[in-house]
Amino acid sequence: MKAYRADLHIHTVLSPCADLEMSPVNIVKRAAELGLDIIAITDHNSTLHGPLTRRLAEDKGIFCLFGAEVNTREEIHCLCLVDTDQQRQLLQSFIEKNIQRIPNKPDVFGYQVEVNEAEEIIQEVDYLLHAALNKSIDEVSEFIFSIGGIFVPAHVDRPKYSITSQLGFVPPNLKYHALEISKNTKVADFLKSNPISSEIRFIRNSDAHYLNQIGLVATEFSLVDLSFASIADALKGQNGSCISPLIEA
Ligand SMILES: [Zn+2]
Ligand SMILES: [Zn+2]
Repeated sequence: MKAYRADLHIHTVLSPCADLEMSPVNIVKRAAELGLDIIAITDHNSTLHGPLTRRLAEDKGIFCLFGAEVNTREEIHCLCLVDTDQQRQLLQSFIEKNIQRIPNKPDVFGYQVEVNEAEEIIQEVDYLLHAALNKSIDEVSEFIFSIGGIFVPAHVDRPKYSITSQLGFVPPNLKYHALEISKNTKVADFLKSNPISSEIRFIRNSDAHYLNQIGLVATEFSLVDLSFASIADALKGQNGSCISPLIEA
């Protein structure tokens, strides 16, 4: 068993709301400076920057998960994390098939650019990545589980785009690996107002949109080995891997 520091919620320059300095090169450089062991790239409704970020991260000995912060039909943000290229392509196709196509207005919402290692723009996504999918949170969860991914409703305590802001409660039958809670809320306080099983595991991430936010909030994992399967096990609290107690606000 070894301890690993993970930040599983990082936006790149592809997200309209993220800073233009959030290129894969800069993100990996910053993560390495901070000594992060595991990162996940979770742009709004896109996995496009996953492969480049993973390649750069591997060079620095950082384990990088592919992911996206999917916006469901109810406008609930959910971290969807996957491992293989094939899973990433399935997730990307699912998003592209189901997202409501609203043209992006870069001067209003921000730029949505994919860049290469030299930080040159490869493409600009012309539909708004922050839009919602035509799929409910249950349908997104079901899809992610069907492809072997990790499903984590994001920032569940926030007053916007969260399971509690949109539904008022955590649905008892929803399938998920863990819940992400922001640094401002104690888990015990969340459980007081949201009566769910105390067995549910919580993680904290930075939700970085700027370089200086990366790793400011993170979660420590104790893993049997450094693999996607062990990270999923830790989130479910099984097979010997686990999440270390969160640092409370
Ligand atoms: Zn969000
Ligand atoms: Zn986010």
